[in-house]
Amino acid sequence: MTASPQTFFHGDPGAGRLARSKNGGVATLPLREPRPTTTPKVSLQEISLSYKAANGKRLLALDKISLQVQPGEFLCIVGPSGCGKSTLLHLIAGLHNPTSGQVLVDDKPIAGTGTDRILIFQELGLFPWLTVKENVEFGMKMKGIPKAQRNEQIDYYLRLVHLAQFKDSYTHQLSGGMRQRVALARALATEPDVLLMDEPFAALDAQTRDLLHDELERLWAETGRTIIFVTHNVREAVRLGDRVALLSFRPGRVKREYKIDLPRPRHLEDFDVAASAREILGDLREEINRSLAEEYQEGVKPHVEPGA
Ligand code: ADP
Ligand code: MG
Repeated sequence: MTASPQTFFHGDPGAGRLARSKNGGVATLPLREPRPTTTPKVSLQEISLSYKAANGKRLLALDKISLQVQPGEFLCIVGPSGCGKSTLLHLIAGLHNPTSGQVLVDDKPIAGTGTDRILIFQELGLFPWLTVKENVEFGMKMKGIPKAQRNEQIDYYLRLVHLAQFKDSYTHQLSGGMRQRVALARALATEPDVLLMDEPFAALDAQTRDLLHDELERLWAETGRTIIFVTHNVREAVRLGDRVALLSFRPGRVKREYKIDLPRPRHLEDFDVAASAREILGDLREEINRSLAEEYQEGVKPHVEPGA
């Protein structure tokens, strides 16, 4: 597939579905009351991260990312492949340290991983030798939750993801969508404040993914968790998010944020979802073109931090 070099025309900010703020930063759809200002659940303060590249130089993957995520907010992060989306989630999970800047949760700097945050990714990490119930129980055991409470929570969360009657099945007996729901139940059962989701539905067929969007939206509404959801699929981001942050390609920076004030429940095929996604896609396409241009160059020349 060849990406078109065309950039989309966004028109008069007052006339479009996505209105641009004067500073070119946050775009807003005027359909919902603004959230009251509270202490952010997650605050990224000028996060930079550089990797050591094969040639010994340093590759600046993330450059001064500042983002605030409010309690109970559903933030989606989009950007071209290789722009640092997974790296950013790993930093929030506490799996890596930033080169500079800090990650705060509830206004306190994080110190490594913590049970207040959980990362869910496409490969799921379910254990095939354990039943659905045992898989869900595993995370809770790690957290030191007592047995009686574990049983109660297993039942509650398996009912929540509509898998109660499959609790004694093994994961190979389930469909891809059901396995994803087991992974969700396992994550939710540890009752983390923040769910970090890295392209969790990318490998699923469209029908299953649609169902899981509905389920995730419902689970989010019922549990009040804060979700940071990474995807390269803009339509998925608009379908799910209260806000979408677009990262630029190398180095990863927050290029623009879009507030999505469309009514819920939403559907992927809603006209307004498609229209908003089209606008964001225009901005994303510029970044995809930059990433492709770099990829096609002989001897890729990544952005290298001067003097690093
Ligand atoms: P995304 O998830 O957006 O596709 P990643 O966060 O996986 O992007 O990667 C961002 C950039 O950092 C890429 O250029 C990738 O090659 C580089 N990168 C990721 N992990 C490492 C690593 N462990 N060592 C060196 N470079 C890395
Ligand atoms: Mg990734």
